[in-house]
Amino acid sequence: MRVIIVGGGVIGLATAWRCAQRGTDVTVIDPEPGTKASGVAAGLLPPSGDMLLGRPEFARLVLHSRALYPSFAAELARAAGTPVGYLRNGILDVAYDARAAEGLDRLRKMADDAGVRHEMLTPDDCRRLEPHLAGEAHAGMLSPDDGSVDPRTLTRALTAALRHAGGRLVRERAAELLLDTGTPGVRLGEGTVLHADRLVLAAGPWTHLLPGLPEGLVPEIKPYKGQVIRLRGDTPLHHTVRCGYEDRAVYIAPRADGELAVGATYEDAGYDEQVRAEGVADLLERVRRVLPAASRMHFTGAAAALRPGSPDGQPILGPTSREDVLLATGHHRVGVQLTPATAEAMAEAVVTGRLPDIARPFGADRFADTAPTPV
Ligand SMILES: Cc1cc2nc3c(=O)[nH]c(=O)nc-3n(C[C@H](O)[C@H](O)[C@H](O)COP(=O)(O)OP(=O)(O)OC[C@H]3O[C@@H](n4cnc5c(N)ncnc54)[C@H](O)[C@@H]3O)c2cc1C
Repeated sequence: MRVIIVGGGVIGLATAWRCAQRGTDVTVIDPEPGTKASGVAAGLLPPSGDMLLGRPEFARLVLHSRALYPSFAAELARAAGTPVGYLRNGILDVAYDARAAEGLDRLRKMADDAGVRHEMLTPDDCRRLEPHLAGEAHAGMLSPDDGSVDPRTLTRALTAALRHAGGRLVRERAAELLLDTGTPGVRLGEGTVLHADRLVLAAGPWTHLLPGLPEGLVPEIKPYKGQVIRLRGDTPLHHTVRCGYEDRAVYIAPRADGELAVGATYEDAGYDEQVRAEGVADLLERVRRVLPAASRMHFTGAAAALRPGSPDGQPILGPTSREDVLLATGHHRVGVQLTPATAEAMAEAVVTGRLPDIARPFGADRFADTAPTPV
């Protein structure tokens, strides 16, 4: 079976790798793979978060992906022959006031319900675990089995593993989808036409804008801008840290090489992908509030990208009303976390035409226009 995947972010690349492992002839098309949200994300892999509240099926998918991560990362490292950037260094949540402590209590309840190992901490515990964090914590929680992944390292590893599994990466833009021919095709920016038995659209917030799509086949995927900054210094953090204070939040993901990724802004700014001084200033203010030593650290960079948001904020997976055109998009704030589960579900859908049970609530058919025509 020939498969074309449009979009080489973490979702498209991981899906391609899993499809290649299942014996399909797979080609990923992307002019700049791994450079959009998938190259910018902080890569936190938390077991819980407010966006999962009241959404049991979404929480189940996230927990499933979380459970897959250690073996996914180990297998990927072997297949790629390069590091994956996965750190299981524990997630430390710190609340700096009573209101943030209420949020912590919600996380604790979610962890209890999901059977996720965690430990509630006193201010002294927080100080002992991370002496460089601001001292006056109200409460803390440690999830020792969780952590983060450096998405830039992850996309490099996925690209190498795809190549070793026999897949191809074509660094061209999909200029037009050709969907009124027998087998679906893609016209590349330089004019070549490629055909396949299955087309997977994984182009993030550009998915519904791909030229040649019939109206209504793909729901609108809205861009939600996020900016992150990177710092380096001799003030190590041992854990992936999330802090809340005065209705604000900041998270810090230490990388294997000692750099700290600090995030993130959340903006409704259309397709603006520019780093703005305002965003950088905001993140610096937030990180200095919880990590005073940040002021003396080396500022190594800032980046901006667009989270792909579906109409209900949850991923869209599997066949559209055309069984030869599938979607893998809309992962919004948790695409890195959902990479292993998405790749597994999409490879199954590509090969068998059906999503596995855990992914079925996220089918494209929940949006009326993309529902398969009843027979
Ligand atoms: C600041 C920030 C922080 C984040 N933090 C986290 C986090 O801590 N944890 C987490 O799980 N998630 C996080 N996310 C979300 C995560 O990054 C996304 O959900 C995920 O990267 C989406 O991956 P994707 O492959 O669907 O999309 P993208 O990474 O956007 O990839 C889409 C690809 O499609 C390509 N494309 C577009 N148009 C075309 C075309 N015409 N032809 C060919 N290719 C095309 C693009 O070049 C791009 O490479 C964060 C995102 C941001 C922005």
